[in-house]
Amino acid sequence: MAVKVCKFGGTSMADGNVMNRVKSIIESDKDRKYVVVSAPGKRYSGDIKITDILYECHKEVAEKGSCGAAFQLIRSRFNSIVRELNIDFDIDSVLDETEMRINTEKDVDFTASRGEYLSARVMAEVLGAKFIDAEDVIFFDENGLYDAEKSDKAIREALRGADKAVFPGFYGKGFNGKVKTFSRGGSDISGAIVARAVNATVYENWTDVSGFLACDPRIVDSPKRIKMLSYKELRELSYMGANVLHSESIFPVRKANIPIHIKNTFRPEDDGTLIQPSVYYTPSGNTVTGIAGKKDFTVIFIEKSLMNSQIGFVRKVLSVLEQYDIPVEHIPSGIDTMSVVIESAALKNGKLELVLKGIKDAVAPDTLRVLEDIALIATVGHGMSSSVGTSARLFKAMAAAEINVKMIDQGSSELNIIVGVNNSDCDNCIRAIYREFFGN
Ligand code: ADP
Ligand code: ASP
Ligand code: MG
Repeated sequence: MAVKVCKFGGTSMADGNVMNRVKSIIESDKDRKYVVVSAPGKRYSGDIKITDILYECHKEVAEKGSCGAAFQLIRSRFNSIVRELNIDFDIDSVLDETEMRINTEKDVDFTASRGEYLSARVMAEVLGAKFIDAEDVIFFDENGLYDAEKSDKAIREALRGADKAVFPGFYGKGFNGKVKTFSRGGSDISGAIVARAVNATVYENWTDVSGFLACDPRIVDSPKRIKMLSYKELRELSYMGANVLHSESIFPVRKANIPIHIKNTFRPEDDGTLIQPSVYYTPSGNTVTGIAGKKDFTVIFIEKSLMNSQIGFVRKVLSVLEQYDIPVEHIPSGIDTMSVVIESAALKNGKLELVLKGIKDAVAPDTLRVLEDIALIATVGHGMSSSVGTSARLFKAMAAAEINVKMIDQGSSELNIIVGVNNSDCDNCIRAIYREFFGN
């Protein structure tokens, strides 16, 4: 029997009318049994996401002891959703209890999770489905990672006898017994966790675009849709900024080889994008599958004669970063040079200075230089390894657009080429690469 798990994102939950669309999507296919929802997102550009208001609520609680004013916005938004849906549901009692718990728990994760909690309560009512609280079935271990075995078991147990169920996305229960959220956009991960627990035929991820596009539609007007992506390509693109799907969503489904289907709530008839494990993946024939970019990196450039012959050089540099608990993104290297690429946010509050001093003390470099405000742009595709001249085309396109290359890293997977450019060149660079490989 086919079982589909459907995750609906923020814009699909934005108001009562869209929620009614969601209802008809679910009811149009009897295999769509289990639903995971985000908090209501933006209804129009300039609107504020419920999750962002909840972070404001938490600030208000921290400053004033309770969250009166900010919670009023949550209250009126959910009141109008229930009104638009025309359902008989006592949302006020649920809101009263939620406000009380926010004020007593004073916990940022708990507060931020309430958008998903409330929209799942409403959606369960709309569908006449069982509401299953994520804090009862999704667990984190002592390292803060999701505990697959424990969660699988609890989800299956909670679903026993339920024909249809709705789960709130974005959170679960931490090892300390308190509500814990994933990082932003994390409802995509919750959907994947439920899909894996029920061994779904497919994990449908419903959003506001008709699939994974070859690049960010906010940068290039109507980019081409990618029909099929491999898990690996997805991971590269989403990690590098294609945030249509959270970059960690593949981990729960990967083991079970469950495909992810990106679909558009506002155009359900469109094909969308199918993300497949490599066993089922058929290459598109295109050299490049997609392009993504992310801003705000810092590159530390280190030069030292005969670096290659000095045993332990790289280890010594990396151990300085480890000492300050700083994650490293890339390490492009040459014969006498190496660079370390780090997210700038990780080097705030004086950490950059500490790291530079640590590197000087550890390896006494001939040159130590820092490049700040760097954007990384990843050009990704299985087809790149088999077509000759891909990098030449890419760099020619960048040169024609007068974009200065600050750093190059060709991944050892041969799946991507990453270039570093100034933050201010990021969007132009994506446009230039897109034009080269996709036309117009
Ligand atoms: P949801 O609320 O449904 O989770 P998100 O806002 O998280 O939706 O993700 C969808 C958005 O991702 C799109 O509206 C689009 O602006 C943005 N996006 C960025 N890169 C891409 C891409 N390569 N393909 C499609 N959408 C992208
Ligand atoms: N509501 C959360 C956020 O805004 C999680 C999600 O939408 O996936 O980040
Ligand atoms: Mg999202």
